[in-house]
Amino acid sequence: MGSIALRGICKSFGGIEVIHGIDLEIANGELVVFVGPSGCGKSTLLRLIAGLERPSSGLIEIDGRDVTRLGAADRGLAMVFQSYALYPHMTVRQNLSFGLENLRMPKAEIAARVAEAARMLAIGDLLERRPAQLSGGQRQRVAIGRAIVRNPTAFLLDEPLSNLDAELRGTMRAELAALHDRLGATMIYVTHDQIEAMTLADRIVVLRRGRIEQVDTPLNLYNRPANLFVAGFIGSPA
Ligand code: ADP
Ligand code: MG
Repeated sequence: MGSIALRGICKSFGGIEVIHGIDLEIANGELVVFVGPSGCGKSTLLRLIAGLERPSSGLIEIDGRDVTRLGAADRGLAMVFQSYALYPHMTVRQNLSFGLENLRMPKAEIAARVAEAARMLAIGDLLERRPAQLSGGQRQRVAIGRAIVRNPTAFLLDEPLSNLDAELRGTMRAELAALHDRLGATMIYVTHDQIEAMTLADRIVVLRRGRIEQVDTPLNLYNRPANLFVAGFIGSPA
């Protein structure tokens, strides 16, 4: 569970195409990082996979099933945003359980999932606080916890650490890597930070102007960049 395939995905906004025929297969359990300069289409691609946008043409498959016409709620994926998107008037516990209550999950099951996510993310002692009473790193943990409790087929993370300072970003990056190992879930991670991409990824997808320039492991991209753009972006020696 958790393989994702994009087949000839194009996306236009107001008649202007910004994603130009993306083909990509992601294996179950893989951690794939999308990198590329601002405006190259990373967020749009992630939103297309999440079901928050519809492609102008092309197909999206999850576990071999065509989900192109399914809405976000029916795709079994969970997205984590840069802005955290926590509910300010709810406690951490409520932020974590709210989505599950909407699914009419039994209360005991919700409590168990919240407890497990809180343990994994070390936020057990923050459950009765509100977002305003949390640090940036703690807020991001809660945002990730809200994805974990849904037990998704795959996690989609859009620059989840970019609002944090450099030191905390390093810590959270290591925690995310550990979490990926523990959960074994598919993750697609968007960043414009080369170091994040190189340290986290099983494979890196380098995007430029709505097209894939190269897809490979961090080591292969570094050693054998397909062109100067990739070399420059990954930081390979000239
Ligand atoms: P990235 O996340 O890599 O910075 P985006 O996916 O946000 O890039 O944007 C890719 C391109 O699509 C940009 O040119 C952006 O202006 C355009 N775009 C994204 N979303 C919309 C939208 N809702 N309406 C119009 N244009 C959009
Ligand atoms: Mg973006």
